[in-house]
Amino acid sequence: VVLIEGMPMRVSEPQNNAFDLATPITRVRSVGTRSAARLAKLGIKSVRQLLWHLPARYEDYSLAVPIADVIPGQKQSIQGEVISIVSRHIWPRRLTITTATLRDDSGAIRAVWFNQPYLEETLTEGTLLSVAGKMVLDKRGLYISNPIYEKIATRNSQLETSALRHTGRLIPIYPETEGVTSKYLRFLIQPLLESLVIPDPLPAAIRRQYDLTDLTDAIRTIHYPDTEEAVPAARDRLAFDDLLLLQLKALRERRQINKLRSVRIPMDAAYMRMLVATLPFTLTKDQRVATLEILRDMERVYPMNRLMEGDVGSGKTVVALLAALHGARLGHQTVLLAPTEVLALQHYRTLRTLAGSADIHTVLLTGSTACVDDRITTKVAAKRAVSTGQAHIVVGTHAVIRDDVRFKALALVVIDEQHRFGIEQRATLMKSDRHTSGLVPHLLSMTATPIPRTLALTIFGDLDISIIREKPKGRQPIETSVVSSAQRPQVCDFIRQQVHDGRQVFVICPAIEPSSPIVPTHASKTPKQAKLSALWAQVKAVEEEYRRLSKEVFPDLKVAMLHGRMKPAQKQSVMREFKEGWHDILVSTSVIEVGVDIPNASIMVVEGADRFGLAQLHQFRGRVGRAEHQSYCFLFSTDDTIGNRRLQAMTKTDDGFLLAEQDMRIRGPGEFFGIKQSGLPDLTMAALANVDLIKKARTAALAIMKIDPDLKRNPLLAAQLESIRRFSHLE
Ligand code: ADP
Ligand code: MG
Repeated sequence: VVLIEGMPMRVSEPQNNAFDLATPITRVRSVGTRSAARLAKLGIKSVRQLLWHLPARYEDYSLAVPIADVIPGQKQSIQGEVISIVSRHIWPRRLTITTATLRDDSGAIRAVWFNQPYLEETLTEGTLLSVAGKMVLDKRGLYISNPIYEKIATRNSQLETSALRHTGRLIPIYPETEGVTSKYLRFLIQPLLESLVIPDPLPAAIRRQYDLTDLTDAIRTIHYPDTEEAVPAARDRLAFDDLLLLQLKALRERRQINKLRSVRIPMDAAYMRMLVATLPFTLTKDQRVATLEILRDMERVYPMNRLMEGDVGSGKTVVALLAALHGARLGHQTVLLAPTEVLALQHYRTLRTLAGSADIHTVLLTGSTACVDDRITTKVAAKRAVSTGQAHIVVGTHAVIRDDVRFKALALVVIDEQHRFGIEQRATLMKSDRHTSGLVPHLLSMTATPIPRTLALTIFGDLDISIIREKPKGRQPIETSVVSSAQRPQVCDFIRQQVHDGRQVFVICPAIEPSSPIVPTHASKTPKQAKLSALWAQVKAVEEEYRRLSKEVFPDLKVAMLHGRMKPAQKQSVMREFKEGWHDILVSTSVIEVGVDIPNASIMVVEGADRFGLAQLHQFRGRVGRAEHQSYCFLFSTDDTIGNRRLQAMTKTDDGFLLAEQDMRIRGPGEFFGIKQSGLPDLTMAALANVDLIKKARTAALAIMKIDPDLKRNPLLAAQLESIRRFSHLE
């Protein structure tokens, strides 16, 4: 059979049978331009992508029963001959009902379809059918409701099942989109599987060692498994490939990084001790270890590529600034990038107090502000201070990248909340130095989203990791409670009392979902439209909550609001006013999620808390409890049952790593990381929770790289490696 036009597949010569997976989908028989466009919406443009479009689940129609044995309420398969078929129109309801009577040796049954009048033409009397669907009992007896059907040549033959696509076996149900049904996908995929031979990119030794299914078998099984039990092994095999590629990529990148040259900064222990002694607090052990790890990295001839993970408030900034100051002493420059102006300003203040006495010059550069040391200046002047090398440490936002700041001797790049920056932005920064010597700056990324180590290794490449787990001393745990709407009055009283005591309050709202179901889904919007409508939904939520709180609940208190539609200058002034105590309550979207320091705030209220992930809630909670005041977090939940149970975890621990692990277990890695952000396939995403498989893939990758570092002996792997995304700073 010629399945792919122009590409004969001779069953007798299996080697030649291995067709090119890169074949465009348009060359698969019965895919026209219209269906190609629809398939593209599912990301299917090649045969490979079609075969890797995996079922979300299976319907079990494996038991084809005699018609006489059909059980009402069950989903079953039967096979029979069409005795009669007739369609009726029910005008007021614009409905067509097509009823066929099917018969086998044991009896007869009706099959009923809605709005498919053409069936009358295709399923003519005498046609042999295999049908599957739900068996329903009504006044006139049993019928099969809206069954899946396919024509068969002969009846009752067990040997026939492998040719069945839609009935009589486990049937794949695929992720669908408009115009691309599971039925259509089965129609395309099943014939490809019959004579499928995919060259296996994995070395046989690795396959044996980890007991992995052959790739062709895995693909065949995952689409049409004989039993559900056969699926996990197939799934693991496919996930293993992706994880292995990510690991290989990471190891290769590491090799590349180690070939690069960076600025060697010898450690000056005496100076460090002096710096640390000037701090208004003692560093925690984790902070000391992280600082040391960073300084050691910077002593090397190749660039540091380190991720510092630590809960909100664990004191990452100080560690980064210590490293910056250490370099500044020898004239090396550092740039610290923050995702928002508010944060940049906050870091700059911290930096100014640390750099105060020393002969170290600093620059602040954001969209709206430029400072050299403590003076506000023009952007031009600030940029000149950087390019001449007068300024040692630059703190800024995206503006640093956008305004094309040039450095004289950039040795260290620090990126706070690294996930808020694109790979390209990072890359631009890494190249923004005027060195002619070809040196690459050291890179320190920071994140408050605790990511389990194995996962970090997989998604961010082979970087080194410092973890700050310990909280600075003297922090009181934040009293967290999950509250129902019935308890709202008490919470309000409590808030009023705290405000009277001089404290301040954050209220965070999730977006208000568009209430009309007719509103187009995200899929049919452009990314920009989707982003805009998400933004509007947030603004609406904040405005509504602001109105409710300021007019109805707390007319006696000063309430302010903050949302993403406000201009940066506006946002900044609201934050400044809040910090200076002009407002009691700040209603906001999750924009204040990233570390804003308001030591006087003691209450964090989260509306619709069940709509946020635990990791995110934990970040919100970290906004309070930053000073000596006992602080509180109230989680209002719209869902009084399941959501609440998940939220209870928040009341039991304030360990961000623990919550992250739970969050990932509960919501799955996809939700946890945000699928859009990662660009990883769903299967890989799911596999990110499978620590065992990750470890295997890592060991396998190490073994392969050891024997065959350039992948000369594994050309298929090498080719695939080219096609996957990179995460490191070499991009
Ligand atoms: P992160 O960026 O990790 O969320 P920050 O670096 O902003 O945390 O630190 C939070 C607050 O804790 C800051 O006000 C900082 O000065 C303070 N801090 C940092 N380290 C310590 C410490 N070891 N002891 C006491 N306070 C600390
Ligand atoms: Mg921070």
